[in-house]
Amino acid sequence: TSELMSFDEFIRHWADERGDRLAMREEDRFFTYAELEERTARVATALLAKGLKKGDRIAWIGKNSDIYFTLFYGAARAGIVMVPVGWRLAPPEWAYIINDTKAKILFLGKGFEAAPSSMEGLLPHVEQVITDPEARAMVDATTRAPFEAAVPDDAVLQLYTSGTTGNPKGAVLSNRNLFALRKHSSQTDLAYTKWDDDEVVLVAMPCAHIGGTGLGVMSVAAGLPAYILAEFTPDGFFDSVETGGVTRLFIVPAALHILLQHPRCATVDFTRLKYILYGAAPIPLELLRQCIQMFKCGFIQNYGMTETTGTICMLPPEDHDPNGNPRMRSAGKPLPGVEIKVVDAEGNEASTGEVGEIWTRSSNNMIGYWNLEEATEKTMTRDGWVKTGDAGYMDEDGYLYIHDRVKDLIISGGENVYPAEVESAIYGHPDVLEVAVIGVPDPKWGEAVKAVCAPKPGATIDPESVISWARERIAPFKVPKSIDIIDALPRNPSGKILRKDLRAPYWEGYERQVN
Ligand code: ATP
Ligand code: MG
Repeated sequence: TSELMSFDEFIRHWADERGDRLAMREEDRFFTYAELEERTARVATALLAKGLKKGDRIAWIGKNSDIYFTLFYGAARAGIVMVPVGWRLAPPEWAYIINDTKAKILFLGKGFEAAPSSMEGLLPHVEQVITDPEARAMVDATTRAPFEAAVPDDAVLQLYTSGTTGNPKGAVLSNRNLFALRKHSSQTDLAYTKWDDDEVVLVAMPCAHIGGTGLGVMSVAAGLPAYILAEFTPDGFFDSVETGGVTRLFIVPAALHILLQHPRCATVDFTRLKYILYGAAPIPLELLRQCIQMFKCGFIQNYGMTETTGTICMLPPEDHDPNGNPRMRSAGKPLPGVEIKVVDAEGNEASTGEVGEIWTRSSNNMIGYWNLEEATEKTMTRDGWVKTGDAGYMDEDGYLYIHDRVKDLIISGGENVYPAEVESAIYGHPDVLEVAVIGVPDPKWGEAVKAVCAPKPGATIDPESVISWARERIAPFKVPKSIDIIDALPRNPSGKILRKDLRAPYWEGYERQVN
């Protein structure tokens, strides 16, 4: 499969090689690779017959579903760009994204039939709305016709960033972006990125993010079945492993945390599970330790962003040694074909161990942001580097350590404090369910470290005890000066803590300096 680099090529290849193998499953709907080939050819035919052309956008509001992936792959075969819109967003946010793309067709997943009426008058470009049963009927009723297939550098997917640090931006991704690093066994000699022939991939994270849609793409790259969960729920997850045969999956730390709290976690048989890939946000060390003990499978940390089509760096299973291996704090090593460098404030390459901004270059880097020339120029250099906005350093063995977002760095009394490290230290406190650390204005320190904590059910948090817990684990200048207690932390739909929202009330009337 080394020469394949597009949906059209992969899907035709697997239909020829293993046509009767399962390609995807959702609930009681099963489709083989031969069926996927036929159905996606019909989607391409139907969309072209509606007058869409290569480069046009279609949008999807809905949970994960076999019909979403069928529409996406079918459109992609013809170079029509799918834009999955996060279903947890509010109607004005949906409308913003759909208008930004100028999509002419809006597809609705099950349960989202009322979405258009909540955006009444807000969608001037949408000419047609197609519901889940209508989309399925369209596939069934279409007779395939020959079409011009998209080439590797054609755009096929437009994903919006999570909006953790500002407005979501549309990252335009090509066939090559999606497949270059997702073609595993034939390309790398890393044992843990090789697929066995009996594997099943779980799609558990929302399709509007690369950690959801990207896992579907991974199954196509490997010619293996995707087990699709409409949305992440503990029971859906446990069933997928217990009876669905899932061997590999990607989930975010917030979801791992939810699983560990669930009573079924202790009774499910996880022996078929080979690898849990996790990432998209910093993981507290204690949570990772608990997960390793509970699931007893291989763990692989993933670091990446929407702009890099997801993972560019992995911490291999063998570095996940809960008995104090310092590498457990690392995001791992760049994947083959990925360059990563750390750049200091003057724009020079930082030396080993020195913290700076992480830059990366590979065939995974997006084509650019949609309709945002200035932002694209700020993020991508002329010679092809993406500036991640994350602070970190590289050790002498080439392991990358991510401190945090450059924008979240707290400078307190001239010392740099990275919130993620302080959060990780507080995470194990017996009364604390979750914690976020921010900088607040302080006349003496410039910024003072503050921890915002939510208690475990039934527990009461004593601020003094959190401070002394932190004091035993991290340097004095990193210890929070104050603790706020709230019921639950604000998170965006990808489960990321919105530190900017926590910060806002404290910074009213101040100008916060960001590098
Ligand atoms: P926005 O760019 O709109 O503010 P976002 O950056 O959260 O939102 P994503 O592209 O979904 O949008 O997330 C990428 C970011 O997630 C990275 O830049 C990094 O800050 C964080 N991240 C990803 N993987 C890891 C990881 N393994 N450890 C720590 N942080 C991670
Ligand atoms: Mg970002």
